Amino acid sequence: MDLAENQTHGMVCAHHHLYSSLARGMPGPQSSPRSFINILQSIWWKLDQALDLETIYWSAKLGALEALESGTTCIIDHHESPNAIEGSLDMISTACNEVGIRVNTCYGVTDRHPSANFPPKSMTEGARRGLDENRRYLNEGGTGMVGLHAAFTCSNETLDHAAALAKEFNVGVHTHIAEGQIDSDAADRLQDTTQDNWILAHGVHLQNEHGLKGAIIHNPRSNMNNSVGYAAPKRFDNPVGLGTDGIGADMIEEFRLGYARLREDDITAPPTDIWKMLETNIALFPECQEDIVTWSYPKMDSWHLAFSTGVKPTDIVIAGKVIMKEGVLMTVDAEEIRSKASEASTRLFKRIDDQS
Ligand SMILES: [Zn+2]
Repeated sequence: MDLAENQTHGMVCAHHHLYSSLARGMPGPQSSPRSFINILQSIWWKLDQALDLETIYWSAKLGALEALESGTTCIIDHHESPNAIEGSLDMISTACNEVGIRVNTCYGVTDRHPSANFPPKSMTEGARRGLDENRRYLNEGGTGMVGLHAAFTCSNETLDHAAALAKEFNVGVHTHIAEGQIDSDAADRLQDTTQDNWILAHGVHLQNEHGLKGAIIHNPRSNMNNSVGYAAPKRFDNPVGLGTDGIGADMIEEFRLGYARLREDDITAPPTDIWKMLETNIALFPECQEDIVTWSYPKMDSWHLAFSTGVKPTDIVIAGKVIMKEGVLMTVDAEEIRSKASEASTRLFKRIDDQS
């Protein structure tokens, strides 16, 4: 497919959490978190425990809408909702289908409920239910992978079961890896388990020669926000893609930030170093090549885009279907989604409040 200079294929977000779209404005923790595990426990694990199927649906729908508005047509999603596991992946795929965006999702299996000891010693009922949700969704023909939260919240038994399930369905495992220091032994624990089709998000605390197979997904904004350190992703031999870790799906914006962070570390680095990650993303979700995005900027070139703000899609065609025309979405009522999502967030925030 020939592309004009102001066009690209659909952008791919290689690591997203659609369940977090409603988090903006949620009740804050009682005291300011002082570590990565503190951030997980006092924010994200409170949010995911409060999700029900309805809020998952509206969160995914808002996230899908905002992805489209950023020219992203394919999302590789990682989902968790420990109190609404069964059917959760259907909520996400239905919401994305209705918006007209492509999604590959998975349920992030974990043994962290109810235990707070890391790593847990044995497989929990929650992990079993998470594996079952991955199996059910894949069995019914859903586009997805097998999700793992992260090695440090999983027993060895759970890691092995997830790997076996992925093999059974001929898909990869999508997991967080060494995002914080607390997960720095993940490479040892998964040394003989990973495969080339696995997706490893973050890798901040991986050794250079970590020995794991799979694509590493760099999430610069999230890593900076969580103060986990710089992944310095050029050091890896693995393919490296780019994700947002749930903070929207604007890949041009993430590219620009990723480049600024890289330059802070290395004054000689060109923007192509980060642009290449978007090419890895294409390999991870090749259907994006059937999609065409026309942009508000005349030349979609990394040296231009590294220094151009506010670049937005004007026209989007996904699998031959016109989704956006002259900046207007043709498939959905964007204002209605925003309004329904806002109502859902009020209910969600009340449940978060009630937990504490
Ligand atoms: Zn993540």
